[in-house]
Amino acid sequence: MQRILISACLIDHPVRYDGNCKPTSLTARKYIMRWKEENRLVPFCPEVAGGLPTPRDPAEITHGADASDVLDGQANILTCAGENVTPAFLQGARLAVEKARHEGCCHAILTDRSPSCGSLQIYDGLFRGQTKQGAGVTATLLARAGLTIWNENQIDALASELTRLEKEMAR
Ligand code: SF4
Repeated sequence: MQRILISACLIDHPVRYDGNCKPTSLTARKYIMRWKEENRLVPFCPEVAGGLPTPRDPAEITHGADASDVLDGQANILTCAGENVTPAFLQGARLAVEKARHEGCCHAILTDRSPSCGSLQIYDGLFRGQTKQGAGVTATLLARAGLTIWNENQIDALASELTRLEKEMAR
């Protein structure tokens, strides 16, 4: 059975910076509930695992940089108050890779736009609600470790992929 690392906030854990979980579409929820019952899902919040409290100040990758720059030590992640929280984000990303390996996950469903979990978009670093193409540090490190990354709007596509993979394995 294909196991899936999932952003804890997508599975009702109130771990987002504002102390809430992340609402999902009905379709996404249907799959998440099914996979939870099948014991496929491994919930994980890299920011909490990295030692940050909940609630916490929102944080963004510095303007003009991306997750690779942060992972390569060329940029930081700052809160809206200017606190440098890069070490906690990096620690959370490393722990996510360890968790995925330990649990045998080849796929991850991650909340888009987060400086940790974003995979297609992140905020632009100016705390003005503007997004840009890019990924968060956990999504990037998991992808470097070989996982396939999906966001909360791609769960239908992941379901089709799991069906295909599991049919192939059953042959
Ligand atoms: S770090 Fe990821 S799992 Fe944790 S609250 Fe943010 S988006 Fe959700």
